[in-house]
Amino acid sequence: MMSIVTRFAPSPTGELHLGSAYSARIAWQQAREVGGTFLVRIEDTDIRRCRREYETAILEDLRWLGLDWDGEVRRQSDHFADYGKVLDQLDARGLIYPCFCTRADIAREIAAAASAPHGPDGPLYPGTCRSLSIEERRHRIAAGHELCMRLDAVRAAEQAGPYSFVDETRGRIEGQPLLMGDFVIARKDTPTSYHLAVTVDDHLQGVTLVTRGEDLLPSTHVHGLLQKLLGYAAPQYAHHRLLTDSDGRRFAKRDKDLTIRALRDAGKTPDDVFALIAAFPAKA
Ligand code: GLU
Repeated sequence: MMSIVTRFAPSPTGELHLGSAYSARIAWQQAREVGGTFLVRIEDTDIRRCRREYETAILEDLRWLGLDWDGEVRRQSDHFADYGKVLDQLDARGLIYPCFCTRADIAREIAAAASAPHGPDGPLYPGTCRSLSIEERRHRIAAGHELCMRLDAVRAAEQAGPYSFVDETRGRIEGQPLLMGDFVIARKDTPTSYHLAVTVDDHLQGVTLVTRGEDLLPSTHVHGLLQKLLGYAAPQYAHHRLLTDSDGRRFAKRDKDLTIRALRDAGKTPDDVFALIAAFPAKA
């Protein structure tokens, strides 16, 4: 039987809180129960929001909780060249295009449109820059306009063909390649985006089971699309429920008193923390 490889992939934009410790523990347990591999990956592609201090603190907290990982921690900002190569492949296949729109441009375009298709995160990008001519693109680049790169989702869906993925509790799910429209595949400031880096890394690291919150289920549809386009094997998924507080709110980095650090400073032990996690409901 193939050995299982799971991972915990935090973004270092704040300290580890109860919700993320819960997620890490599930992935860790899934690997440890069957003698598999548990990886930790630092997802710091949003270089303006991520901080090295948070990375150090998250790793320290995981160690303190006893959630030991295998091998080196992969830090995405050390691997921009890997994502750049894949971006070039997609570009050579005519699947990505530069987008010069600001947030305000996009909002204006959507407001003026007769209908605005919505995705899981709100209105989809209206495709303004998809039809720019090569000359216009060159002109804007030469003029120093800021740009990000977007996937041409319709073309990508055509090239990829149908695909599906398996979630442990939900079963096989048909991929919806257009769910996020022409999503950003490379940000303005880095040659990648969350969606591209996750897909490339899960592939390069041989991850076989992706354990993460069900808030990321829509993202799995576009990761599946990229996997199919790039010829990567699709891992299995376990989208778990989100841990919520007694008011039904999910934990977030702003809940300063429920960070692992704060609990630890208040004299709690790792067992106390896991008992606290078990006492909170995980809601759909
Ligand atoms: N880095 C993402 C986050 O912290 C998780 C991504 C994933 O598990 O695929 O929300």
